[in-house]
Amino acid sequence: MTQQLIDNFGRTVDYVRISVTDRCDFRCVYCMAEEMTFLPREDIMSIEEIELLAQAFTELGVARIRLTGGEPLVRRGLIDHLHNIGELPGLDELLITTNGSQLSRHSQTLKQAGVTRLNVSLDSLKAERFKAMTRNGDLHKVLAGIEAAQQAGFQRIKINAVIMKGSNHDEVLDLLEFARDKGIDIAYIEEMPLGNIDSHDRALSFCSSDEVQATIEERYALLPMAHKTAGPSRYFQMADSDIRVGFISPHSHNFCADCNRVRVTVEGRLLLCLGNEHSVNLLPVMRANPGQLEPLKDAIIAAMPLKPERHYFDLEEEPQILRFMNATGG
Ligand code: SAM
Ligand code: SF4
Repeated sequence: MTQQLIDNFGRTVDYVRISVTDRCDFRCVYCMAEEMTFLPREDIMSIEEIELLAQAFTELGVARIRLTGGEPLVRRGLIDHLHNIGELPGLDELLITTNGSQLSRHSQTLKQAGVTRLNVSLDSLKAERFKAMTRNGDLHKVLAGIEAAQQAGFQRIKINAVIMKGSNHDEVLDLLEFARDKGIDIAYIEEMPLGNIDSHDRALSFCSSDEVQATIEERYALLPMAHKTAGPSRYFQMADSDIRVGFISPHSHNFCADCNRVRVTVEGRLLLCLGNEHSVNLLPVMRANPGQLEPLKDAIIAAMPLKPERHYFDLEEEPQILRFMNATGG
């Protein structure tokens, strides 16, 4: 029988997000500082270590793995070896969160490697604003990437949009129309206080999911979905479209009671909760026992009691989390 990961509060962990790089070709204002120092290669997991980690988790009952970053598609060597993860027994879903800039080139390969779903970040449909929010992103490349992914056969693509006041909050409906038109899902995300940034004041730019939802409901009825996902998101359907509309609300809605996930940073640090620093460093375990699954699995099992009951984010205070989202894996 497959082992299971169960924490002290009876929650089963069957979903892992792995950050495969801290690097990125964008510098989104809510995610990174303009000047970033990235980690030296020896401090981050190798592709082999990422594969070993994925295998260890699947042998511990994890059915869903999301690769994120940084921008996962800029990690050298990842795409060529991705099928090793895609083919792992017990894995139901291999997901990637991407900024979409490389999707035109890689969609086909991702599909063949067994990637089941893609999340693409898209905060604006205005090229100038997109460039400003990402500090150097090219909107047209991302739109072409989404197109390529659809042509490669990806079905439930989802757009992730971080909504910020004074920036893109006037595009809530335009982004929704885009999603409806393309037949892709959309999730609106509340900005989280991860990392110290100097580009804007998060207390001023914060836009709650309830505000976004109210804007949408001025034009469309949103029908709650019977199926509830474990996590910070709530999803709705629309009467005249197949797409799902989600709200990811780490601030305004506490979702910890049914949290089923853990994260691994690009440095191999197992984070038991996004909003706390509780973690265990798995890299030394992998480096001391190259290619060996059992010591790694033992370390993961031993970490489960550290998973805290809930997180606390407070916009008025200094972020308790000083790591940036790109190192954590969104
Ligand atoms: N580079 C990929 C991308 O942008 O989709 C994957 C990594 S990115 C860190 C994952 C997700 O986190 C993106 O949808 C991004 O918008 C979101 N994100 C980054 N920083 C955030 C923050 N401070 N608050 C809320 N969401 C954030
Ligand atoms: Fe890069 Fe994604 Fe962070 Fe934007 S949100 S800087 S695309 S890692």
